Amino acid sequence: MKKVRMIKYTKPYLIMIFISIGLLYAQANFNLTLPDYLSKIVNVGIQQGGVEDAVPEAIQEIEMNRTLLFLTPENQTDVLNAYKLVNNGTAEANQYIEKYPVLINESVYILIHTDSATITHLNPIMARALLTVAFVKLLMENDTLRMLVNLQLGLSLPGGTDLFEYLQTQPPTTIALIIFAVNSQLSALGDKFIIQAATQVVRAEYEALGMDLNQLQLNYLLYFGGLMILLTILSMACTIAVSYLAAKIATGIARDMRRDIFKKVEKFSSAEFDSFSTASLITRSTNDITQVQMAVMMIVRMVFYAPIIGIGGVIHAIELAPTMWWIIAMAVGVLLGLILVVFYIALPKFKSIQRLVDRLNLVARESLTGIMVVRAFNKQQYEEGRFDEANIDLTKVSLFINRVMVIMMPLMMMLMNVLTIVIIWVGSHEIANANLQVGDMIAFMQYAIQVAFAFLMLSLMFIILPRASVSVSRIAEVLKTDIIIQDAENPKHFTEPFKGKIEFRNVSFRYAGAPEDALHNISFTAHSGEVTAFIGPTGSGKSTLINLVPRFYDVTSGAILIDGIDVREVRQHDLRDKIGFVPQKDVLFSGTVESNLLFADENASEEELKYAIQTAQITDFVDAKSEGMATEIAQGGTNVSGGQKQRFAIARALVKKAPINILDDSFSNLDFKTDVALRKALRKSISASTVLIVTQRVSTIKNADQIIVINEGRIVGKGTHVELMETCPVYKDIAISQLKLEELL
Ligand code: ADP
Ligand code: MG
Repeated sequence: MKKVRMIKYTKPYLIMIFISIGLLYAQANFNLTLPDYLSKIVNVGIQQGGVEDAVPEAIQEIEMNRTLLFLTPENQTDVLNAYKLVNNGTAEANQYIEKYPVLINESVYILIHTDSATITHLNPIMARALLTVAFVKLLMENDTLRMLVNLQLGLSLPGGTDLFEYLQTQPPTTIALIIFAVNSQLSALGDKFIIQAATQVVRAEYEALGMDLNQLQLNYLLYFGGLMILLTILSMACTIAVSYLAAKIATGIARDMRRDIFKKVEKFSSAEFDSFSTASLITRSTNDITQVQMAVMMIVRMVFYAPIIGIGGVIHAIELAPTMWWIIAMAVGVLLGLILVVFYIALPKFKSIQRLVDRLNLVARESLTGIMVVRAFNKQQYEEGRFDEANIDLTKVSLFINRVMVIMMPLMMMLMNVLTIVIIWVGSHEIANANLQVGDMIAFMQYAIQVAFAFLMLSLMFIILPRASVSVSRIAEVLKTDIIIQDAENPKHFTEPFKGKIEFRNVSFRYAGAPEDALHNISFTAHSGEVTAFIGPTGSGKSTLINLVPRFYDVTSGAILIDGIDVREVRQHDLRDKIGFVPQKDVLFSGTVESNLLFADENASEEELKYAIQTAQITDFVDAKSEGMATEIAQGGTNVSGGQKQRFAIARALVKKAPINILDDSFSNLDFKTDVALRKALRKSISASTVLIVTQRVSTIKNADQIIVINEGRIVGKGTHVELMETCPVYKDIAISQLKLEELL
């Protein structure tokens, strides 16, 4: 299920992926052609002196006639059709004289059909005939040999005469016997070797024609050498292009995933944040994404390339040396065994690595954000110990994996070397038996190594993929998280004019996983233009209660209505638009005083900002700074005091000019004087709105229109200060303890 969803990230890059596959296919073909050319250079260029075929490009008339003697009438026509006769002394001859100097005295047949079909057809025919001619020439020179042949074949070939002329006078059976004798010698060899042998005859003929044999050989070597260089350059170009595309695809996919994770996490309600640790969310959107990015890069570059090279290499190699297939099979077998062993040992470790990175991040984050507390309690060593533990665990696993890899590498190299030795050992015997050409053995060796490398590449994939797949599922986990707080399908809209009457109806709430409700059966109504205050011991559920209004959490049962509409039925954006919120844990963002205030309303005017600053009682602070509104606020607001931070948070809420204002314990860090001044100013500026204030201080809310006393998640008192002093013992206790304190001051 998870994989299916994640695969969609490749969609925008499908074209690039296909181009990459095309390029890799081309590259694989270039690389598979190289050993073939190398084998040509060794076999033809060096061993055959640059003569590739048994069909000479030119042949003296006299030699042609001798050759024709040993061909069937049918083959004779085929051969003659491929050539044309150029007589010496003619104008035509002058054209060729430079290339074939013998034309001055002799007539020469010149090959006119040089297409590969003709050559392939004539190659074995000409090869056998040319070798027979050479054989007869040998008989003319070597008396012992001739006598031996005479004896064996029952012929009486005379010495001291031109045997070719003699044979023309003999019955066809004599010629047939000689052909038979030559062919029976050649019968053990394949066409390839017969042709190779005949090229020596062709070379001798070229010499007789007066051709420059060195130039011929050099030309051949330069031609195929040049082709090899060209292929190498093309292959390199493909590698560069594919690497570029792979990087583009991988980083693109990583960017898209990161964007989606961020978007998703932004939608998380507090409930979802409670289920993922922040450290884990950070690891998931950085380290895990990097893993996926690396894997994608490898997949693009290797997964398509390795099989083409692997299969292509095997096919080419077996074509060259069919009897040596078992060497490759053995190498692949050993390689697979080696890889399997490594997997068996290292794979579980690979899978655990991400979890360890998570833990390291968690510990590092915690002790860095809490560095003050750590120092205050002199717990540096304890924290270092905790970090060390996480660090050492990660190090151990990484080391183990690296050790396995390090051992793997020399083993692989040894395998390659053994492979080479076995090929040379077996190959040289095959060469000795004329079953294999030297060049083909070299090419076979290269193919075998290519095949082994292909398997090595695939094995690398198997190392990276498991780790990446763990990462993918960790990313998918975030993306697949169901967001509990969603907008309604058909959202309602607040009616204008918006009043901001808040009504809690039998609201109960329980945190996910908590054993009991944090709020029980809460009912009250807060009217606009009035201040509704909440007071109660810490942990009684005040913050929980007001967090339900902007839907940071949804009620477990009951309902919250604003202007008669359930908060779950309007869009979250519309709802939060109406609320100025000062959280208990104030958060300022890195930037300036101004940028922090504009966060509430980017279109707020200078006067509005000034007014908010005045109301929140921070004019003194801003005026004292030379930069005024442009004063820098550090990350998390660490360069202002707790009380200043609270006032900035209030100012920010004021800039929003919302019809509902919620202040959660926003005066706790203020001295009484500022508290009084702030409350006075606030009363003026937000008196028309619905105000919910959470506080610990009775003095703060003495004048509130309605005070709600919370204890252990229940309402234990509701009314004005005067009423509660009489009816609510919990309130009275709090009030007495605090008011005495104030009287003292
Ligand atoms: P108050 O604001 O009155 O001091 P809170 O509303 O913050 O109290 O907490 C009320 C109760 O809910 C406490 O017992 C607290 O432990 C619990 N609580 C607060 N936040 C969470 C949370 N995110 N998950 C689980 N329990 C929580
Ligand atoms: Mg609280």
